[in-house]
Amino acid sequence: MPTYEYEIAALVAAYKDAVGRIKRELERLDLAGLSRANAEIALAEIARILASLNEESAAWVAANIPAAARGGIVNTLIALGVAETAEQAQALVKFNRMNANMVAAAIADTQADLLAVTQNVDRRVRSAVRQAVADSMRANMAAGINGRRTISRDILTEMRRSLGSAVETGIIDAAGRRWRPEVYVDMVTRTKMAATYNEATTNEAIQRGAFYAVISRHNATDACTKWEGRIIRLTAEAPGDYPTYSEAKATGEIWHPNCRHTYIPARRPDRLT
Ligand SMILES: [Zn+2]
Repeated sequence: MPTYEYEIAALVAAYKDAVGRIKRELERLDLAGLSRANAEIALAEIARILASLNEESAAWVAANIPAAARGGIVNTLIALGVAETAEQAQALVKFNRMNANMVAAAIADTQADLLAVTQNVDRRVRSAVRQAVADSMRANMAAGINGRRTISRDILTEMRRSLGSAVETGIIDAAGRRWRPEVYVDMVTRTKMAATYNEATTNEAIQRGAFYAVISRHNATDACTKWEGRIIRLTAEAPGDYPTYSEAKATGEIWHPNCRHTYIPARRPDRLT
């Protein structure tokens, strides 16, 4: 399976870059005398950074999810002997109805997942900046009453820390784990690209009457290992005592996040071992 490392790395770099620019924007704030007006100027710049990131990632998804689907179709065309080379197969790729539908859903899904990251960063940063304005005002008031001209270093350090951490959480998942924006984006796109590749493989195979597949091998070191080389059914409609793709996935051992396992379709399971 093509790994799309180069494409994923480019998107992850865009998130890293945006996070870095937001951090620098926050570091530029004069926390010792932070006015609401200055905070709003910084927030407007941050909103621009995130909007352009959203645009870039939407374009990335619209180009790369279909590319992963084409990869899966090529996989099937070669496995079933419809084409001999990847080049020949590329020329024959066409999205059937199942794949057109699946790709549209995968694009929408992935875009929603990525949008959730920038929305979270936006919300956290906004709330941290507004908190900083309030903290700064309060600390200045107290310092003035105490006859000092500037607020204490401890307060400034704490304000810096909470602003910095606001931009470092992209997503908190259902298990309560915090994901840095770029790490989450890497995991989500890798997982969605692999799922799209696999589903496109299945949809093309089923249309061509191939209902079985053998799971790929790359000497995995996780729970997937015991699934390498095993035969699955691509649909519960197919006869035979093999687990279906969904049953294999439901074990939680294979096709987990970041899993790179794919499968090679075949018309007859006895030709696979
Ligand atoms: Zn795996």
